[in-house]
Amino acid sequence: MPYCDAPIAEIDHAHPHADGGSTDSVNGNGLCRNHNRQKENPGWAVTTAIDVGGTHEALIRTPTGHEHRSRALASPGENGSAEVRPDEFDRVDTAA
Ligand SMILES: [Zn+2]
Repeated sequence: MPYCDAPIAEIDHAHPHADGGSTDSVNGNGLCRNHNRQKENPGWAVTTAIDVGGTHEALIRTPTGHEHRSRALASPGENGSAEVRPDEFDRVDTAA
């Protein structure tokens, strides 16, 4: 989650498994315990994508309609410059 510096405590489905979310690395989402619970509340949605460079990104929609992107840090030795286009979120993890 943006603005959260807590270490990843739980790895979960960004799109809930109970709602048809796939169990794979694209739909995986590492969060702190509080945010993993928070995203399960009504009005929250998290979609994920992996760009052609292999960087994972999550788009978080809050109940107020605000959207935040959370992009994985580049691994050591990578430049992390690949971009994820917004339309990539629509083609990944939207099947229910
Ligand atoms: Zn958090």
